[in-house]
Amino acid sequence: MADLTRLSARALADALASGETTSVAVTQAALDRIAAVDGAVHAFLYVNGVDALEAAASVDKDRAAGKNLPALAGVPIAVKDVLVTKGLPTTAGSRILEGWVPPYDATVTRRIRDVRMPILGKTNMDEFAMGSSTEHSGYGPTHNPWDLDRIPGGSGGGSAASLASWEAPLAIGSDTGGSIRQPAAVTGTVGVKPTYGGVSRYGVIALASSLDQLGPCARTVEDTALLHAVMAGHDPMDATSLDEPVPPVVEAARRGREDGLAGVKVGVITELGGEGFQAGVSQRFAEALDHLRSAGAEIVEVSCPSFAYALAAYYVILPSEASSNLAKYDAVRFGLRVDDGDTTIERVMAATRARGFGDEVKRRIILGTYALSAGYYDAYYGSAQKVRTLVQRDFAAAFAGADVLVSPTCPTTAFKLGEQVDDPLTMYLNDVATIPANLAGIPGMSLPAGLAPEDGLPVGFQILAPARGDDRLYRVGAALEAALDAARGGTLLASAPELATSSKVTAPSRGPVSK
Ligand code: GLN
Repeated sequence: MADLTRLSARALADALASGETTSVAVTQAALDRIAAVDGAVHAFLYVNGVDALEAAASVDKDRAAGKNLPALAGVPIAVKDVLVTKGLPTTAGSRILEGWVPPYDATVTRRIRDVRMPILGKTNMDEFAMGSSTEHSGYGPTHNPWDLDRIPGGSGGGSAASLASWEAPLAIGSDTGGSIRQPAAVTGTVGVKPTYGGVSRYGVIALASSLDQLGPCARTVEDTALLHAVMAGHDPMDATSLDEPVPPVVEAARRGREDGLAGVKVGVITELGGEGFQAGVSQRFAEALDHLRSAGAEIVEVSCPSFAYALAAYYVILPSEASSNLAKYDAVRFGLRVDDGDTTIERVMAATRARGFGDEVKRRIILGTYALSAGYYDAYYGSAQKVRTLVQRDFAAAFAGADVLVSPTCPTTAFKLGEQVDDPLTMYLNDVATIPANLAGIPGMSLPAGLAPEDGLPVGFQILAPARGDDRLYRVGAALEAALDAARGGTLLASAPELATSSKVTAPSRGPVSK
């Protein structure tokens, strides 16, 4: 049997179903890989060795007994630390939640347990999902497996890096302004932000509630679809959850791969390209458009003028909502409590928040509190909401003339660790192409478009679809992936440099991570 860590989730599911391998073997291979490379990558904040192997063994037992099992049963998965996981530490990358062990599961955690996927551990992220590099994690940064001196994107850098370093075949992410798609782009992996309301957020640590969405991360479009189908669907525990059937994402991926794109209109968003985008990013983007054309798609240009203001509006709306969501970390209910002999609740609260939150979180709480304060509310929050309406209108007009819209996912490839961390504005600009989708609540995918010639690093291609049209992402994404894989003779990740292995694991773990 081939190296189990290199197989797709689909291939693993097939090998498990046919009895060629066992879930214990697959899960142990993933844990061994984590033990070997995570000292250098630091994708995981917590490794869940014993529980994962127990879950795997019970799948193997039921399979041996001839039980009918869900498609992904026995395929292990990495979970972003923004999802609460009963019995497993959950920090959202913040020191303020250090040591907190949730007493319940998020709906999505429950769904992956219900389909019997072993949870390998919790992945690193920027604190409370604020960032584009994972450098704002309270527990140290994650490194990009393509070049350990570079960022893996953020906030979900841990999930993306776990895929790109062959530690996990599938991972879960969350995307408020790009935190699934941007890490996917800079690590050569695939990530999808579903339609707002498509996946339950019950048990997800909130950043900005009108923008947050959970989504699937994987190494192929088909694997992403398989995980999407498990995660999505109505949940009465989330008031924003859509009560309607999940779009046929797995079928759409098959169709794109096998039948091409005849009759599909692809709109290129003029404002999300050109000036400010790295030359190699623009070059790979243009080549991908040629592949779409060859697959039968018609390419048209569309203009969305309001996008010039989208980033600014997002950085008013997000901090406003975050400042309210983060008020609950009050030293009483969760995690850290700094009590230096102070007696008043105000002082304990202030000391706890001063020590527990990092600089980026404090910056956004201050910004958001200011934007919402009496006298400034209309000028900032009110104006930002108007821009949001304009962005929604621009999308509606663009989708009147195109089935999907496309752009590069990010302006550049992965930058160096330390390069932008002290320059918030430059850091925020990484999200310029991903944020409009969150403001409008529409679904988006990033998939690898090749390596930029100037630095040999992955370039992401973004596809956007109208709300509830998530299946369109998969149809177009799968067709593009098939064309690119055929042209380069394999997947992009197969050309990633080999990581040196050592046996230093930095994440705390429950039980053995290797035999
Ligand atoms: N990088 C963006 C931010 O810092 C996106 C965050 C996200 O999607 N969680 O807000």
